[in-house]
Amino acid sequence: MQPWLGEEEVAAVAEVIRSGWVAQGPKVAAFESAFASSQQAAYAVAVSNCTTALHLALVVAGIGPGDDVVVPSFSFVATANAPVYVGARTVFADVDATTGNLTPDTIAAAVTERTRAVIAADQGGVPLDLAALRAFCDPRGIVVIEDAACGAGSTAYGRPVGAGAEIAAWSFHPRKLLTTGEGGMLTTSRPEWADRARRLREHAMSVSAADRHASVLAPPESYDEVGFNYRMTDLQAAVGIVQLGRLPELVTRRRQLAKGYAAAIDELPGLRMVADPEWGTTNFQSCWVEVAPEHPLDREGLLVHLADAGISARRGIMAAHQHPAHAGRAGVPLPVTEHLTASTLILPVFHELTDGEQDRVIEALRSSATGERR
Ligand SMILES: *Cc1c(COP(=O)(O)O)cnc(C)c1O
Repeated sequence: MQPWLGEEEVAAVAEVIRSGWVAQGPKVAAFESAFASSQQAAYAVAVSNCTTALHLALVVAGIGPGDDVVVPSFSFVATANAPVYVGARTVFADVDATTGNLTPDTIAAAVTERTRAVIAADQGGVPLDLAALRAFCDPRGIVVIEDAACGAGSTAYGRPVGAGAEIAAWSFHPRKLLTTGEGGMLTTSRPEWADRARRLREHAMSVSAADRHASVLAPPESYDEVGFNYRMTDLQAAVGIVQLGRLPELVTRRRQLAKGYAAAIDELPGLRMVADPEWGTTNFQSCWVEVAPEHPLDREGLLVHLADAGISARRGIMAAHQHPAHAGRAGVPLPVTEHLTASTLILPVFHELTDGEQDRVIEALRSSATGERR
């Protein structure tokens, strides 16, 4: 993975530095409006990263001690950590074998009368069937928090992912399509959640720092609850505004590269590449490939085969319940999660990957299928 950054980002940061206003201010506000309109969200609140967005989402949804939060183990560890921050209990659910995402069936197996929220990820960019999850959760009073960390540029039912969510968390880490170095966003359809998140991200002060610093005689502020410092800076937001403009091109190129990989992999026995589900399109943030038993090499063998050809692939998405931080938490069996985390790998894919470089990867995959060593 490599981020796609250019002179426009350099100029945007330079402008912020010259303006003298570098912390959260006008650029953050502009980035929030641009992001809300591009994702068809009612409200957007910029934060320091997606992990803090998930934390705030749980706080504003009123989740705390005594509550269970169902999450996929098959996700980056931040998804499983967030409930712990609010004193709730993380309960793992299994995922669908094709998409790698939670479904109403996998959630149903993990839900108890203590379940108050579900954090459901658009894993690797593959859109969730959020409508199906909400049809299960809404009548039970369970809040669905969409972990759209990987989701910018993916669609579900003809709209951007997150558009149908009561609350969603986004990441701008360089591993994702859009980047601000580090950065995150919370989007929500609820004005009271947006207001509270906006205050909580800056120490829960009643008057924003931007308003205080912009006034000669600052209005008095009060602190009505314990907040956090989860702010994004104007330096980051300026980069984010430029990056957002690049999103359509980023997605087009990703999908072109994914099509190239998929066409080659379709011909190779024992390999399956992630694909669009029926209800949407993925941004192919991750082109993950499942290595089936018919393949001459197992997943580790294929990683070594690629590495021997100078190609750096990665093990697939982690299973949080297999790590010491979350050991002992799995409530229900997670056979699909355990299978996918052991049998998948992620191919190199980024905006500036050339067709020639991709051909080298494809060639190495072909030679692995015939059992040849290079
Ligand atoms: C990357 C990622 C996160 C964490 O995002 P940060 O911005 O690094 O905090 C959370 N959830 C998922 C599914 C991710 O892929």
